[in-house]
Amino acid sequence: MDDAHVGNELTQVLYTPEDLSARLKEVSAEIDQEYKDKDLLLVGVLSGAVMVMADLSRALTIHCEMDWMAISSYGSGTQSSGVVRILKDLNTDIADRHVLIVEDIIDTGLTLSYLVSNLRSRGPASLEIMTMFRKPEAAKSDVDVRWVGFDIPNEFVVGYGLDYDGRYRNLTSVGTLSPHIYS
Ligand code: 5GP
Ligand code: MG
Ligand code: MG
Repeated sequence: MDDAHVGNELTQVLYTPEDLSARLKEVSAEIDQEYKDKDLLLVGVLSGAVMVMADLSRALTIHCEMDWMAISSYGSGTQSSGVVRILKDLNTDIADRHVLIVEDIIDTGLTLSYLVSNLRSRGPASLEIMTMFRKPEAAKSDVDVRWVGFDIPNEFVVGYGLDYDGRYRNLTSVGTLSPHIYS
């Protein structure tokens, strides 16, 4: 679904499909380099990271495996609490594996912080994080994010896997929602 179909629902398009793929090309080149002599396992976090995973993995020139986790974070409304429940665990044993977590967006970093300590306890050979988007608060978090697509302002964005109330994930651009959608 391109942003023309959204009409007046988006206030602003922040990133076009071309912006997203150009940036992923740069990031994937760095990941290629880092893992050229290692067996890479990409771990995507459902559902938001589906688009990033699909495009990042295909931009890589090295072999990789892919696995998925689904987690739900409890919180009041749109605020993340850091209390996380695993809805779907990995199919893969990650002990001694080179794991790269692929995320859609990091806001407070609380969800990611839980995920990192959970995965670290399984004894991977290495554990790194790639996220397509990062908000200002996440930069203050203690979780070290190795690759960031774009640092974005503290606004609620949708598209390219990111939803509002389950919708807009299939929007090819990323943008901010018009306030009238919320009310
Ligand atoms: P955190 O624990 O880092 O605060 O929250 C991360 C999760 O909150 C993301 O995986 C995503 O589901 C949701 N989230 C945070 N910011 C946004 C946003 O701007 N747009 C959308 N659609 N989801 C967001
Ligand atoms: Mg996510
Ligand atoms: Mg969501």
